[in-house]
Amino acid sequence: MLTAKQIRESYKEFFRGKGHQIVPSAPMVVKDDPTLMFTNAGMNQFKDIILGNVAPKYRRVADSQKCLRVSGKHNDLEEVGMDTYHHTMFEMLGNWSFGDYFKKEAIDWAWEYLVDVLKLDPANLYATVFEGSEAEGLGRDDEAASIWERHLPQGHIINGNKHDNFWEMGDTGPCGPCSEIHIDLRSEEEKAKIPGRELVNHDHPQVIEIWNLVFMQYNRKADGSLEPLPAKVIDTGMGFERLCMALQGKQSNYDTDVFTPLIGKIAELSGLSYGKDAKVDIAMRVIADHVRTISFSIADAQLPGNAKAGYVIRRILRRAVRYAYTFLEQKQAFMYKLVDTLIESMGDAYPELEQQRELIMRVIKEEEDAFLRTLENGIRMLDSAIDEAKKSGRSEISGKEAFVLYDTYGFPLDLTELILKENGMTLDHAEFDAEMAQQKARARNAASVETDDWTVVNEGEQEFVGYDTLTVDAKILRYRKVK
Ligand code: ATP
Ligand code: MG
Ligand code: MG
Ligand code: MG
Repeated sequence: MLTAKQIRESYKEFFRGKGHQIVPSAPMVVKDDPTLMFTNAGMNQFKDIILGNVAPKYRRVADSQKCLRVSGKHNDLEEVGMDTYHHTMFEMLGNWSFGDYFKKEAIDWAWEYLVDVLKLDPANLYATVFEGSEAEGLGRDDEAASIWERHLPQGHIINGNKHDNFWEMGDTGPCGPCSEIHIDLRSEEEKAKIPGRELVNHDHPQVIEIWNLVFMQYNRKADGSLEPLPAKVIDTGMGFERLCMALQGKQSNYDTDVFTPLIGKIAELSGLSYGKDAKVDIAMRVIADHVRTISFSIADAQLPGNAKAGYVIRRILRRAVRYAYTFLEQKQAFMYKLVDTLIESMGDAYPELEQQRELIMRVIKEEEDAFLRTLENGIRMLDSAIDEAKKSGRSEISGKEAFVLYDTYGFPLDLTELILKENGMTLDHAEFDAEMAQQKARARNAASVETDDWTVVNEGEQEFVGYDTLTVDAKILRYRKVK
């Protein structure tokens, strides 16, 4: 059985053999693009080449890119831990052609790699092709279909709609049809019940998309019309953890050696086992997933914070802490103890982890400690708000209560929502937003009297609970009265 490390290497080796330059992953945290906080696909780092703003250094490149899908166009956060194949941070294996090879090579090589090199059973593979769009005046992607027909029987080639099979960079710019490769990992018994093709793109945990081959052949103009792209681009992305699941004969990404060391360590530290209790399992998956995200983010110099990318990371961390606290009975910081395990399995491929080991551990521990100080009281408050609401027949807690949780106890809104959802409840968003707006106005007033960057709001005996970033340079330190 190939290990994750061997699989990652074999991909690079294969495309090196096809004349590709292997390039390093770009950082997961994007610092210089106002439209994007985190790398969410392998193509991000090549955006300027694809747009024709910069000449490519190499016409063929391949890599393994660390991606994060927790905000914007791609947000998989809600799926993570609940299903077994969406992660917040994951690796995307990709190969590109910038004005060099096109559909035929892209498809033939994908097939050669999966079937000839990795020996995946072709009987389990499906390919989707763009069915066309009348509104766009585009026909079916017969070109791709006829290439697939040389590899797959008709029944394994499936038409897909614009949503799944037409890729666009934005409202304007390069775009084109794509072909996704799906794999059916069900047992023979399960397969006998429903044909695999019925389950492609329908969120079946064992019939999943592994690779997306994008054929950029058009340019969308400002008036919405399409013109042929002068230098056509191949852009592919394959989910590394999903490929490992397929190759290692597992039912879940978390059963591959990408995750088993982390799950094992979580089990050891908590004294609980994986695979016995659904809630514990979800918690273990969430924590194993989130600790990767947080560690890679810190290694990329994005620390948890109170604004923008920093707050996204803090929210993820707090979400994991709460899962550990509630379902694994971890009342003390413990996620930082997973960092060594993570580095052992991923440090070779991503040396920045090793280089930042101390920092990663220290920051995670500090964040855990800080949140754990208020978590228990916050949970208690939320529980009683839920009880009160239930007693009076409401399925919603007030926005005011959610705001106190946010402001005083450091509960990110999505964490409050998650806990509410577990209890079949929701919250009053409009009221929460109003509270938030009021607090921002108050803070603005406070800031306007002080000329310093830092305005300390002091009243009686207080305990520091955090700071709010209003603008990049005006920060308000907040204190809470202890007595
Ligand atoms: P899905 O339909 O499963 O959400 P997608 O169509 O959103 O995937 P693409 O944008 O086509 O994904 O990305 C290319 C590949 O990256 C996918 O084929 C899949 O293997 C992998 N991938 C996408 N999202 C995730 C994720 N959240 N976690 C792990 N792998 C992912
Ligand atoms: Mg998706
Ligand atoms: Mg998809
Ligand atoms: Mg896709």
